[in-house]
Amino acid sequence: MSGVWAQGNWFVPRARNCNMEKRVYSFDFDPAEFLLSEARRNLRMISIRIQNLAKRFGTAVALRNLDLVIEPGELFFLLGPSGCGKTTLLRSMAGFYIPEEGSILFGDEDVTRLAPHKRNTGMMFQSYALWPHMTLAENVAFGLEERKVPKAEIKRRVGEALESVRMGQYAERKPNQLSGGQQQRVALARALVIRPRCLLLDEPLSNLDAKLRLEMRTEIRRVCKEFKLTTVYVTHDQKEALSISDRMAILEGGKILQVGSPKDVYRRPVCRTVAHFIGETDFITGRVLGPDGDFIAVETPIGRFLGVVGDANFKPAAGAEVTLSIRPECWKLGSEPRGHNAVRGRIGDSVYLGEVAQYDFVAAAGGATLKIYELNPRFVGTASDGDLFASVDADDVVILGT
Ligand code: ATP
Repeated sequence: MSGVWAQGNWFVPRARNCNMEKRVYSFDFDPAEFLLSEARRNLRMISIRIQNLAKRFGTAVALRNLDLVIEPGELFFLLGPSGCGKTTLLRSMAGFYIPEEGSILFGDEDVTRLAPHKRNTGMMFQSYALWPHMTLAENVAFGLEERKVPKAEIKRRVGEALESVRMGQYAERKPNQLSGGQQQRVALARALVIRPRCLLLDEPLSNLDAKLRLEMRTEIRRVCKEFKLTTVYVTHDQKEALSISDRMAILEGGKILQVGSPKDVYRRPVCRTVAHFIGETDFITGRVLGPDGDFIAVETPIGRFLGVVGDANFKPAAGAEVTLSIRPECWKLGSEPRGHNAVRGRIGDSVYLGEVAQYDFVAAAGGATLKIYELNPRFVGTASDGDLFASVDADDVVILGT
C-alpha cells in the first residue's frame, strides 16, 4: 500500500477514482509530485490593485497618487532611477509603510492598513537573512512555527518548498555550507513555504555574481509560474527585468511613466526618460514636417526621418519640436543608403567585442555622433575608408516629445 499520511488523512492523487469518505487508499504514485500539486492547489492567484497611493516622509514625497493594477499570476517589475519610489511602493504592499492617501487591494481585500504579518506575503531581500545557527530545514520551517502550523504539516511543507527550489538534498546543512546562489534558493523556499498570497522581491539577486544572477533569475521565473504566484520584483538591473518579466512599470519622482511588456517598453518608450533608462539610445532633436503614409516625417540636422510615435496619445502637429529615439542596434551600415532614413558619415572610434562592435558614427551633415552596434562586425577598421551610410527602418524610429 502506498500513500501519504498528512493532517490525519491519507492523501492520494485526485485523478484516481476513489471514495474520499473512507480515507484509506492503495495506489502507486509519486509522493513528491503529489505534494507539489497539493501546494499548487493551495496557492491562490490574486491581483494587486494600487489606487491613488500617496506616501510622504516628512516633506519628501515618495509616491504621488499612483495607480497600478498587477494581474493575477503576473511577474511584475518595478524599475526606475534611484529615489523614484520603487522600494516605497513595494514596502507599502508589504505593510511596512502606511500611505497617507489611497488604497492597496489584494484581490478584493483592502489591505492598506493591515499589519505586515497579517498580509501573508512572501518576502525576499538582497541579504538572504538566513539564521546561521539553524539548518536549512529549520530556517524554512521558522515561518510555519510562528504560525503554529502542526509539526507533521511543517515537515511536509518544508520538504516540498526545498524540493521546489531544488535544495531538498541539503535540508540538514547550515547556511555557511552553501554557495550564495544556494542560499538565495533557500530564501525563496522560505518565502514560498508560508503559501503566500503574493511574492514581494526587493533586489533579490544583487549580492550574487553575474553567472549566478543569470541562473537564479530563470529559477525565480520558473518557481513563480509553477506556483502561479503574483510577484512584484524591484531591481536596478534592466536585463533582469527585460529577460523574465511579464510586464514592468518605470517610475520617476514617485509617479509611473509607463507600464508595459518588456518589448513594448523597449521598442515603444513613451518619453525620453523611459527611452534613456531602458537600454541605450541615440536622441536626435528635430521638427515635425507632417504625416507621410503610415509614418510621420521629421526634419533634423542630420537629415529627414520617417518614424512612429511611442505614445499613441501623442499627436505632434506640423512644426512641433520633437526628439527621435533610435536604438544603436537598429542601424544598418553599408556603402549605399537603404530606404528612407539614411545618414551619410564615417566611423570614428570603435570597440570590437567579438560578436558585436560598437561604433561612434560621425554624421557628415550636422556633425552629430551616433552610437551604432553591429552584430557580426564587418566595418571594424574602416574608419579611414571614406563615407558610409547608416540606415534605419521607420518602424525603429520612435518620435517623442522633447
Ligand atoms: P533606490 O533605487 O535608490 O533604492 P527607490 O526607487 O527604491 O531608490 P525609495 O527608497 O522608494 O526609492 O525612496 C523614494 C524617495 O523617498 C526618495 O526621495 C527617498 O529619499 C525618500 N525616502 C525613502 N525612505 C525614506 C525615509 N525613511 N525617510 C525619509 N525619506 C525617505
